[in-house]
Amino acid sequence: MTSVLTEAALLESVPTGLLIDGQWRPAGSGKSFDVEDPATGKVLLSIADASAEDAAEALNAAVNAQASWAATPARVRGEILRKAFELVTERAEDFALLMTIEMGKPLSEARGEVAYGAEFLRWFSEEAVRAYGRYSVSPDGKSRLLVQKKPVGPCLLITPWNFPLAMATRKVAPAVAAGCTMVLKPAKLTPLTSMLFASVMQEAGLPRGVLNVIPSTSAGATTGPLIRDPRLRKLSFTGSTEVGRRLLADASETVLRTSMELGGNAPFVVFEDADIDAAVNGAMLAKLRNMGEACTAANRFIVHEAVAAEFAEKFAAKMSTMTPARGTEEDSKVGPLIDAKSRDKVHELVTDALAAGATAVLGGAAVDGPGYFYQPTILTGVKEGVRILSEEIFGPVAPIITFTDEDQAVRLANSTEYGLVAYVFTKDLNRGLRMGERLETGMLGLNAGVVSNAAAPFGGVKQSGLGREGGVEGIDEYLYTQYVGIADPYAA
Ligand code: NAP
Repeated sequence: MTSVLTEAALLESVPTGLLIDGQWRPAGSGKSFDVEDPATGKVLLSIADASAEDAAEALNAAVNAQASWAATPARVRGEILRKAFELVTERAEDFALLMTIEMGKPLSEARGEVAYGAEFLRWFSEEAVRAYGRYSVSPDGKSRLLVQKKPVGPCLLITPWNFPLAMATRKVAPAVAAGCTMVLKPAKLTPLTSMLFASVMQEAGLPRGVLNVIPSTSAGATTGPLIRDPRLRKLSFTGSTEVGRRLLADASETVLRTSMELGGNAPFVVFEDADIDAAVNGAMLAKLRNMGEACTAANRFIVHEAVAAEFAEKFAAKMSTMTPARGTEEDSKVGPLIDAKSRDKVHELVTDALAAGATAVLGGAAVDGPGYFYQPTILTGVKEGVRILSEEIFGPVAPIITFTDEDQAVRLANSTEYGLVAYVFTKDLNRGLRMGERLETGMLGLNAGVVSNAAAPFGGVKQSGLGREGGVEGIDEYLYTQYVGIADPYAA
C-alpha cells in the first residue's frame, strides 16, 4: 500500500465543494458544514452544504449526460472502473486514514474496508461487458423474441455513514457498469471519503456529469424534489428501515424503481455441537467489526444452553482484550461510536436489559470522553421481549439468550421484522443446510462471522430491504429488460 500523507496533508487533498457536471464548486447558498472526528470531537474540514437548488442542478447534469454515457461502449465503462480500482488501491492508506478519522473505525479495519470497497470497482469492471440479452424462437415457431438489457437512467444514490467507501462503491460501480448517470448524496457525518472517491473517479476518466456528489445537512429537503422528478429513474438507498420506508412512500408517487438496503437484527446461533472456539472467533467478527455499527452485526446471540456458559466465558475473555482507542492508535481495537446520540442509545438498551434481569459479564458502560466510546459488553440471562433483542444495537454489545432445541432456535431467530443475515455455527452440515432453509434472511454465514463479498448478492428480505448489491445480480438493479417481438422471418 502506498501514499502515506499526514492527516493534515490528506485533508488538504479532499475536495470540499459539490461535484456538479464535472466541476467542484461551492453550494449555491454559500453555506458549508463541519465534519468532525468522533474520537476527539474536533472539526476535520468544512464542506459545501447542498440545497434543493444544487440538487436540481446535479440532476440536470446527470440527465444531460445520460444518453452519451449509455452509448459509451461497455468495455470503455469497464476500463474506467478498472482504473478506479487501481487508483483506490494505490491510495489505500489515504482512504483508510480518511475513513478512520471521519468515521472512527480502527485503521486495520479501515484498510479492510478499502480492499472490500475497491473490489466492487474491479468486480463491476468485469461485469460491465456481461449484460447479456437473448434471442429465441417463440414456442409456436411463428415469431422471434429479442430480449435486451438497457440502463435504467439517472439514479439517486443515498449512502449511510458506517461504511463510507464501500457503501458508495457498491452503488457507483454497478451504475457505471450499466451505463447510468448518478447523483450521490453521502451521509453528512462522513462525506469526506465519498468526495475523495469521486475525485478518483474523475481521475480514472469518468466523463463530466456522470457522477455528481451533493453532501448536505438537509437530506429530505435536498433529495425529496429529485425523488418526485420524473426524469429520475432509480433510487438506491442504504440506511435505516425507518427512512427507507419514508423514501419508498415518496418513490411511489412516480413509481420510481428502488433498491433498499436497510437495517438488520442478525441472529447468531450456536448449536451444542459447534466448535466453540471457532464460534467465538466468528462472534468477534460478527459483533465487533465496525464497533458493531454494521447492518450485518450480530444483534442476538442465541446459544444452546449446554454450551452457553463456555461460549460466554470464552467470548468475554476475547472481548476483554479489545481496548477502545482512537482508530489511528497502534493498539486501537475498538473505535468510538459515531456520535453522542448513538452512544447514549446503546447505553439505554443495555440499561433496559439490565433492569429486566440481565447480567453484564463484561462492560456495560460508556467510556469517559473525549470521543463517544462504549465498553465492549456481554450480557447474559437476557429475557425475551426486551428492547435490545428487537432493536438494532449499533454498538459493541452482545446479548446472549439460550435455547434447548432447533425449533426454538428457529423461532427465536425469525422473531423479528428484519431479515438481512443470520449466522449459524454447527458441525452438522445437514443441520446447517436445514437452518438455511428455515431462516428468513437474505444471507447466511455458516460457520462464518462475515459474509460480505463483492462477488456475492448482498441484501435482505422482510423489512431489511429490496434488491441485491454485488454478485452477478448487482448490475441488474441498474438495468431494465426490454423485449422486442419480431415477426416470423419465414412468413411470405
Ligand atoms: P439513516 O439515518 O437512514 O441515513 C442514511 C442516509 O439517508 C444518510 O445519507 C441520511 O442523510 C439520509 N437520509 C436521512 N433522512 C433522509 C430523508 N428524509 N430523505 C433522504 N435521505 C435521508 O441511516 P444511518 O444512521 O446513516 O445508517 C445506519 C443504518 O443503515 C442502520 O439501520 C444500518 O443497518 C443501515 N445499513 C444497512 C446496510 C445494508 O446493506 N442493508 C448497510 C449499511 C447500513 P444524513 O446523513 O443527512 O442523515
